[in-house]
Amino acid sequence: MGWFTPDIKTMDDLFVHQLRDIYYAENQITKALRQMIAKATDQQLKAGFEKHLQETKVQIDRLEQVFKLHGVDIGGVSCPAIDGILTEANEIVGEVADKAVLDAALIAAAQAVEHYEISRYGTPIAWAKELGRNDCAILLAKNLDEEKATDQKLTTMAEGRVNRRAA
Ligand code: FE
Ligand code: FE
Ligand code: FE
Repeated sequence: MGWFTPDIKTMDDLFVHQLRDIYYAENQITKALRQMIAKATDQQLKAGFEKHLQETKVQIDRLEQVFKLHGVDIGGVSCPAIDGILTEANEIVGEVADKAVLDAALIAAAQAVEHYEISRYGTPIAWAKELGRNDCAILLAKNLDEEKATDQKLTTMAEGRVNRRAA
């Protein structure tokens, strides 16, 4: 997919394209989280992934509300960036045999996903406001807040691991 395909002419088109990109990403992340829950051995990590899977389902609902509020069809466009992040996560996780190391690899992979999401939500929030769509901006900001909180929890878990090892 080209950077500026001919169907993207206005800020509105760009906004909708970005929504479709993150909608696709959230759906792929839902599938990835199910695999991560299955693979995690640390109970706190497993529970964290389960919680974020539930949050992600609500995030998808919010995106669907945004499409409706904006009067466009619900749908995604493929996002090679999230596909790449998830492919890489699968590769590294598949290579780790030790359970504690596997959990560390899962945390690292999950943080790459959260950082991608954080990078993707800021822009459409700004564009929504620019386009006079505060209603959409509020919903998108809720998703962004959850991604940030998840990233923080992952950092805390990663640091906890490191501290336990050091002890
Ligand atoms: Fe998300
Ligand atoms: Fe993308
Ligand atoms: Fe997330």
